[in-house]
Amino acid sequence: MTTAAVIGSGFGGLALAIRLQSAGVATTLFEARDKPGGRAYVFEDAGFTFDAGPTVITDPSCLDELWGLSGRRLADYVELLPVTPFYRLMWDDGDVFDYSNDDDALFAQIAARSPRDVDGYKRFLAYSENVFREGYEKLGHEAFLDFASMLKAAPQLMRYEAFRSVYAMVARYIADPHLREAFSFHSLLVGGNPFTTSSIYALIHALEKKWGVWFPRGGTGALVRGMVRLFEDLGGTVRIGDAVRAITADGGRVTGVATDGWRGEFDVVASNGDVVHTYRDLLHDHPRGRQAARMLGWKSFSPSLFVTYFGLKRTHPDIRHHTILFGPRYKALLADIYRNGVLADDFSLYLHHPTATDPAMAPPGCSAFYVLSPVPHLGKYAGDWAVEGPKYADRILAALEEQLIPGLRDDLVTMRTFTPQDFKVELNAHLGSAFSLEPVLWQSAFFRTHNRDDVLKNLYFVGAGTHPGAGIPGVVGSAKATAKLMLTDLGVAGIGHNSASLAAE
Ligand SMILES: Cc1cc2nc3c(=O)[nH]c(=O)nc-3n(C[C@H](O)[C@H](O)[C@H](O)COP(=O)(O)OP(=O)(O)OC[C@H]3O[C@@H](n4cnc5c(N)ncnc54)[C@H](O)[C@@H]3O)c2cc1C
Repeated sequence: MTTAAVIGSGFGGLALAIRLQSAGVATTLFEARDKPGGRAYVFEDAGFTFDAGPTVITDPSCLDELWGLSGRRLADYVELLPVTPFYRLMWDDGDVFDYSNDDDALFAQIAARSPRDVDGYKRFLAYSENVFREGYEKLGHEAFLDFASMLKAAPQLMRYEAFRSVYAMVARYIADPHLREAFSFHSLLVGGNPFTTSSIYALIHALEKKWGVWFPRGGTGALVRGMVRLFEDLGGTVRIGDAVRAITADGGRVTGVATDGWRGEFDVVASNGDVVHTYRDLLHDHPRGRQAARMLGWKSFSPSLFVTYFGLKRTHPDIRHHTILFGPRYKALLADIYRNGVLADDFSLYLHHPTATDPAMAPPGCSAFYVLSPVPHLGKYAGDWAVEGPKYADRILAALEEQLIPGLRDDLVTMRTFTPQDFKVELNAHLGSAFSLEPVLWQSAFFRTHNRDDVLKNLYFVGAGTHPGAGIPGVVGSAKATAKLMLTDLGVAGIGHNSASLAAE
């Protein structure tokens, strides 16, 4: 029987394991931590459930497809609840914008702020939809293994001016400064600075409009658990709390993996772990590992995040599920985070309020939140997070208390933080980056870590560091690209795999 090892149970690793097992490949999933999910880990404190990472679930169709491979239904495992508005956007001058896919409501809000931007927005939407079709639907799950594949995509990239930034493209159509922020911040959700990330990422606007924004009942963790259950129902093996310490290799091929006191042989190995960690630490005995880690050292990595999870002894029915609080600076703040390595005095925040959609995520009468602030990664900011973290958390909570949640600190039942140092230690994330390689044009597609290694021909990658990149739809798309390569290489494509889905590819 053909066997595969998948290292890491992030969304990418889980989606790949499900695809391989659905195709009849006996797959073992290794996870270093005590729970699956990777960035989508779950903390449980004093009766509150905190999803550690992703909370905005878009493109449910890419998840549906995973269940469909074996004729099952996502709805039998996980209930997805719609979230409206998608985001409430707030500025420090009191301006509020409810962002959704209700066209009339959108047009009315745009007109109220800047009437001439209604037409501009419609043209931006048309641009976003075109890029979505080319960049996501056609290229989002194709592996770019050679330069020729990049050249093939070049005409589309030129046509949609992929060399411009998301912000430049939004600013071409929309004049109002707040609306420019409202329609350009999305690349931050996958680690990209709107001022330097390729305008291709403007496709996120069309993607959200097409499928909406969702939240699993029980939280993102319930979706992770649903994926693990599906994988196990298919006959897959999960090894939780079993960190892979080495990928074994013999010449130009990998032969298996070694954990603490355990060693197994596999026909193919795929890593969902951080790409630098995989090459530098797991392949340190192989020249390819050292060489690839050196090359990755030259690349730029996305910033980190500082996340504060807190439970309150009161409910807050007026606070939406997703709120973005823009600070007084936009471009300059992003430059501090991405380029200058400054932990600024001001911040822009994303506030997650899951109890707005699912009250069961907190004890009765209480509410759960997390607040996230993008911060420089460890290669740019050398401060000691053990010292700075508590002070930074207090500043953020004070700002929230002033702007949105009066009495917040008096109502605290529980609180914890996750710092860039935690990303490094807990997730083996290079420089503590929250999203792996920065999604700029010269680090995209062929220029990103390839879904199959160039030298070790049965070693594969899946997840945020590979094509197409971070975010749940991104890493689930990377699993599709990687699975297609693996199944073709193994010569098992179609076996036990939903043949309609493969035929469609
Ligand atoms: C705070 C936060 C909020 C976010 N919000 C959103 C959002 O709302 N919507 C969205 O779409 N995206 C969001 N993202 C991005 C998204 O979460 C990630 O891009 C995505 O989940 C990454 O998945 P991945 O497949 O790359 O794996 P990861 O989540 O990075 O998981 C990799 C796994 O590999 C394991 N591992 C590493 N090394 C080893 C080893 N040696 N042996 C065994 N296991 C190992 C790790 O423990 C980890 O579990 C957010 C990210 C963060 C951090």
